[in-house]
Amino acid sequence: MTFTAQILTLYPEMFPGPLGTSLAGKALEQGKWTCNPIQMRDFATDRHRSVDDTPAGGGAGMVLRADILGQAVDHALEQQPDAPVIAMTPRGNPLTQRRVRELSAGPGVTILCGRFEGFDERIFEGRDIEELSIGDYVLSGGEMGALVLLDACIRLLPGVMGASCSGDDESFETGLLEYPQYTRPVKWEGRIIPEVLRSGDHAKVEAWRKARAEADTRLRRPDLWERHGGTPDPSPSGARRENKED
Ligand code: SAH
Repeated sequence: MTFTAQILTLYPEMFPGPLGTSLAGKALEQGKWTCNPIQMRDFATDRHRSVDDTPAGGGAGMVLRADILGQAVDHALEQQPDAPVIAMTPRGNPLTQRRVRELSAGPGVTILCGRFEGFDERIFEGRDIEELSIGDYVLSGGEMGALVLLDACIRLLPGVMGASCSGDDESFETGLLEYPQYTRPVKWEGRIIPEVLRSGDHAKVEAWRKARAEADTRLRRPDLWERHGGTPDPSPSGARRENKED
């Protein structure tokens, strides 16, 4: 099955963009996913092909029109009725690895990319659309968010990542951050890879990794740690530890 990404955008030339290289690019060539950017302007009805208008109630900027968005979404749904429709917006639910995993197991996604001040709210009432945010900051458009979402999904498609298990204990998959990684040289600027990782004792390595994943999550991301069911960081500041020797 091919994972199909439909992207409704004013800038179709931004796709596949960086997803045409490396892991995702190879997967695209191999037909593991397909990339169908759709120009939203094609659904405009006037001579100037306008898609936006001034905000009701006044204020700066322009807003994407619900009627144009509706036409664009209906077209996308005709193409791919089974794929969830997702709008990129800072007002949406924060994107999580859990949602990425669910989406990557499905037929694909249709992604609505905002521009200007965003979408006329009525599009979310008139159509079944999931609003997703990629973080608490403001981008100039939804395209970068769409690329982020797609990158996260594509790497999980069957056969895309080299070692089939290399996704399993990564950050967020277990509800924790990943343990720190090291590679050769063993000594760099006086810093030595933790002894346990060189011991060849797999049980010890596992135990060390689990302990570090937990400790680092508690220090760096108390929010994740709490959701994981852990007790809060006892240190007064919760400050990050110096990551030198263990
Ligand atoms: N006025 C809006 C921001 C508009 S930014 C507000 O304050 O909420 C223009 C477009 O960029 C948005 O419609 C959205 O598609 C995209 N965008 C900006 N920040 C984003 C984020 N954190 N996550 C996902 N999409 C974002």
